Amino acid sequence: MNFTIKNVLIATDDDYTTVDVQVVDGKIATIAPDLDVIGAAVDGRNNLLLPGFVNAHTHSSEMWQRGVMSMLPLELWLAELYDFAPLDLEKVYLSALGTAVETLLSGGTSVVDHLVLIPGQELETIATAVRAYQEVGIRAFIAPLIQDEPLIASIPAGNSVPNNETYFRSTGATLEMIAEAVKQYHRPEEGVSVLVAPTGIQLCSDALFLGCIELSDRHNLCRHSHLLETKAQEKLAQEKYGCTAVEHLQRIGYLGDRTSLAHCVWLNETDIKILAQTQSTVVHNPLSNLRLGSGIAPILKYIQAGVNVTFGCDGASSNDSQDLLEAIKIGSILHNITDSEYQNWITPRKSLEMASLGGAKGLNIADQIGSLSVGKQADLVMYDLTKLSLLPRTDPIGLLVLGRPVNVVDSAWVNGKGIISSGQINTINIDNLKQELFNRSQWENKRKSPGVAQIETHYRQIMDL
Ligand SMILES: [Zn+2]
Repeated sequence: MNFTIKNVLIATDDDYTTVDVQVVDGKIATIAPDLDVIGAAVDGRNNLLLPGFVNAHTHSSEMWQRGVMSMLPLELWLAELYDFAPLDLEKVYLSALGTAVETLLSGGTSVVDHLVLIPGQELETIATAVRAYQEVGIRAFIAPLIQDEPLIASIPAGNSVPNNETYFRSTGATLEMIAEAVKQYHRPEEGVSVLVAPTGIQLCSDALFLGCIELSDRHNLCRHSHLLETKAQEKLAQEKYGCTAVEHLQRIGYLGDRTSLAHCVWLNETDIKILAQTQSTVVHNPLSNLRLGSGIAPILKYIQAGVNVTFGCDGASSNDSQDLLEAIKIGSILHNITDSEYQNWITPRKSLEMASLGGAKGLNIADQIGSLSVGKQADLVMYDLTKLSLLPRTDPIGLLVLGRPVNVVDSAWVNGKGIISSGQINTINIDNLKQELFNRSQWENKRKSPGVAQIETHYRQIMDL
């Protein structure tokens, strides 16, 4: 696993320089010009080397419904999603492979999979995703998506009688299952970590959050949840707690430097200060927020307040791809319309730092990955600067972030292991994957969701529509 990249371009503080990079035992050993070749030699000429990005929030099995979901807001969209969710381990396996591959081919070397579990086969679902990620070789953060309240609980009750439906699995059984998943699959040194991941305040009791905090403290696990993705959730928090969701989560001790929170669209000024104080991480999912009409997250305010922000694709049913470079582009320039003070806008270099070091911070491993630094793990991506979409030669990082890069990843390594070379994934058979995805699906542009029909009237009433 030792190799030396020769004559590759890297970014300096405000410019670029050509260097050699020696990788020894999975770590970056030396970065300097004219180094001896240790191990295999990799030709880095006309390539840009960057630290791998983190796809900091996704749901891999949503791949099976990308492109087909109706144009609906989150609460109704979820009802449709679950009506047609793939309840099949083979599909879980294939969509995890697909998510990993698309993440890698758009510059990501780590993925946080807020993994939807098949009821009754929860541990098997986790095992299957672990197997897929290990086969591809991406650094995987499995965040088994848990809740202990039924879907209807996510919509504010308003004046209607509160629903007393219960969730099919008890809080205790859910926590036991996660504890077992940690025991069986949490192996950070092997590139697979398990996170505690209550889906969010809209579907989780305090007992579930507290149990997750306890597990996270006991095993030093990161915490991952959705937070205030929609206006309805903002209303719900007031109904449920009499305060904002952020205030409540702080009160029960859920926030901290190991906590990453997806979306964060509907936060107020006080909430933002709390996220900064607690060193929590915001995972920005701009495409999903647009697709579901959730809103524009106040990312510039987060950055100014000192909140760590990184990017996620979110599940492919609300995106509908897993292209990290696309999420980074939209998630950066989108905010220029929210602040006329252009000095606050996110520059391409800042975007890349958010996607790499920001992602590492959110997973509490900024000392191990997230930058081209000697001693860090070699989670690296090399971009071919001779590709048409990166020409003519202007500013490589500007082209990568603001352009529309197509097939530009030449090589990628995770922990020093080569996953992509000459633009091709070399750990799994991509032709087989494509054939399986084709064979196990069909064109289906007309579906009717009974779940949506059940809750739509109430949703429209609550949201004054
Ligand atoms: Zn999500």
